[in-house]
Amino acid sequence: MSQVAPLPFYTRARQAMADQNLQTALDRATGRMVVARKQAIGLIADGEAARDHARQIRAHTIANLDRYLDEFVANATALGVHVHFAADAEAATRLVVDIARANDVTRVVKGKSMVSEEIELNHALEAAGMRVVETDLGEYVIQLDHDVPSHIIAPIIHKTKEQVAETFRRELHATEAEVAGIPEMTAFARRMLRAEFLAADMGISGVNFAVADSGSLCLVENEGNGRLSTTVPRLHVALMGIERVVPTAADLAVSLRVLARSGTGQALTVYTNVITGPRRADDPDGPSALHVVLVDNGRSNMLRTELEEILYCIRCGACLNVCPVYQEIGGHAYGSVYPGPVGAVYTPGAFGMGPWADLPQASSLCGACKDACPVRIDIPRMLLALRARAEEGGHTPRWVGDGLHVFRLLATRPRLFRWASAVARRLSRWFGPNGFDRLPGPLAGWTRHRHFPAMAAETFTARRRRQAETRGQS
Ligand code: SF4
Repeated sequence: MSQVAPLPFYTRARQAMADQNLQTALDRATGRMVVARKQAIGLIADGEAARDHARQIRAHTIANLDRYLDEFVANATALGVHVHFAADAEAATRLVVDIARANDVTRVVKGKSMVSEEIELNHALEAAGMRVVETDLGEYVIQLDHDVPSHIIAPIIHKTKEQVAETFRRELHATEAEVAGIPEMTAFARRMLRAEFLAADMGISGVNFAVADSGSLCLVENEGNGRLSTTVPRLHVALMGIERVVPTAADLAVSLRVLARSGTGQALTVYTNVITGPRRADDPDGPSALHVVLVDNGRSNMLRTELEEILYCIRCGACLNVCPVYQEIGGHAYGSVYPGPVGAVYTPGAFGMGPWADLPQASSLCGACKDACPVRIDIPRMLLALRARAEEGGHTPRWVGDGLHVFRLLATRPRLFRWASAVARRLSRWFGPNGFDRLPGPLAGWTRHRHFPAMAAETFTARRRRQAETRGQS
């Protein structure tokens, strides 16, 4: 995955905070989604129990992933599905290009697929001479703008409707009437895309869940483009992360109950597609051939590690919407296909620290992500584990590591801690009786946006002792 922007994370974050269009778009969208999620989860009587059940299914599946993948492959193959395994992005793109070439494909339509973004599939297909058209409305706008998604379920959350109208005018010569409002723009895109579906040789989709005991694929969506991409062209290729398997249809039902509610606040998405094999004598609908590409691409690096829990993720996007950091900087600042709290764990976990070492720092550890997550993934715990990895791997500035060592030295020696805090208190009140508007050196980042208050005249321990004594006397 090479979607990292050339600038350091902190520079990208500062730029995002200064971008007024982005701030308007984020305020409108995340606020709306947070309210919708709360209402939708609140509407099911056993909402908390459903989350516990969904988590238990994910935990059990990931703990037995090899078994359920084998079962899925056997059942899907028996239905006539061609199942392939790709160890990394390069193998996955090569497989899809080879399938397309072997079937004389020249035109491709794509439903929304985060895995295809992750492996940069469009570039590979276009380099092989194929025309690729994104058919999810948000992804279509992204493609027209040569942009990248900034949210895992709302790819153009960073754009206002005015910006989308401008894209349609510029790239598709839309008239003013065709971009007069959101319904008009949606109808316009629909007309443009309908012709693409009818002309395509191959449809590509993601997979929300694969059911092990039936070999079925489940795709959820709201626009119908997923259904058209997977049924109209003669060939369907589904890209699936290896973790997206569930044992049974009953487990799928539980997962679907919490997915849409957490993502968009809907009880269920408008389209829930369950695809069980390609067209055959006893089932004449759909494409004549169906290929499933199981993509690892770093996922198995996290199995049996302290990051395994991130593989429980069902990609609902709720943790992004509630995250106070994501709400301010949006998705592009993360530089990764997977932004927000889930991405801050998933990206360095799957692809290594490399350029992603700053991402686990992009959190206040407030825990809002864990509270919102339908499968209760403990993201803050894993962010801390990754911060430790970054420090051990020499990915954090030297002063941070040295500072933490000094803090540990003091914090594990109560007498020394009391003495050092008394000295620090005196010095702070001497040099800055009213606090500091500007701190020196690496601490300057703190005062760039806020005041650093003076230390209290009396320590917490001293105050407690004094209050206890006062109570004892009365
Ligand atoms: S980590 Fe949880 S809240 Fe975030 S996208 Fe995944 S399932 Fe949704």
